[in-house]
Amino acid sequence: MTIRVRVPAKVNLHLGVGPLRTDGYHEVATVFCAVSLYDDIVAESSETLRLTVDGEGAHLPTDQGNLAYRAASLLASETGVKPEVSLHIHKQIPVAAGLAGGSADAAGTLLACNELWKTGLTVDELAGLASTLGSDVAFPLYGGVALGAGRGEILTPVAADVDLRLVLAISHQGLSTPAVYAELDRLRGDAATTESASDPEGIVAALRRGDVGAVAELLCNDMQSASLSLRHTLANVLELGGGASGLVSGSGPTIFFLARSADEEHHLVAALAPHCRRTLVVTAPVPGAQLSYTP
Ligand code: ATP
Repeated sequence: MTIRVRVPAKVNLHLGVGPLRTDGYHEVATVFCAVSLYDDIVAESSETLRLTVDGEGAHLPTDQGNLAYRAASLLASETGVKPEVSLHIHKQIPVAAGLAGGSADAAGTLLACNELWKTGLTVDELAGLASTLGSDVAFPLYGGVALGAGRGEILTPVAADVDLRLVLAISHQGLSTPAVYAELDRLRGDAATTESASDPEGIVAALRRGDVGAVAELLCNDMQSASLSLRHTLANVLELGGGASGLVSGSGPTIFFLARSADEEHHLVAALAPHCRRTLVVTAPVPGAQLSYTP
């Protein structure tokens, strides 16, 4: 049997970053939003755990260094089955881009292997395992829009009444999430362990009442100054958006702009294209990881 899972990338419409905790993580108050940019995972029976990757991630490790491989190992050990699966990931989500592609692959792998091995975990149980793999791994199982608390793994769905069109500016080179957090702490200095996270309440209310104008006004990322500090050219990309609201996604370097009309979308694509690796137009929010079967 062949199991296929399509799993979305995310942007953070709001990323409030609070204090550095004693366990090395930061407290966050974030609004995840799943977007129509996907990785596809194919899982088939095999005598061992094998992984291949093509597309955006062709250079990624295919052993324990890959979050998808770790996800399959974890599900097997937690449920007492042998990790017998051949996984193939077709990556369209750029790597180290602030779009949580690795987390998406891990989430999709949990769902695919749970189906292939008939281990019968619920999505909530898979999300529990997911959050031990990484702070952003549970969200792609649900998709849509969700508030993330704790280090991002405590999720509350948000009934967002919006159909957003976002223009993504993808950079030539990725940024390391730990490096951006370290830069944020450096910029915050003595306040790094006391700073409170920006409050997402306003943008959550705007999403619920379908007020796209207010959503555009309220986009917020506490990490943006650190991403810009490590990658000065990102400030120019933000300026290229003209009047459109733009924000660094997660730890960056991807920048997304909220297009308010087809005209604005075309202008954004034309203005950004010469200054980044590629532009992508996506819709949001979209559902989380979706399963399909080939007998
Ligand atoms: P986030 O937004 O969750 O911080 P990101 O989008 O910035 O993440 P990812 O593409 O998820 O970054 O990957 C970050 C690093 O994780 C990569 O540089 C790579 O070394 C490692 N990695 C491990 N497995 C994967 C995978 N399946 N896909 C992408 N990266 C992976």
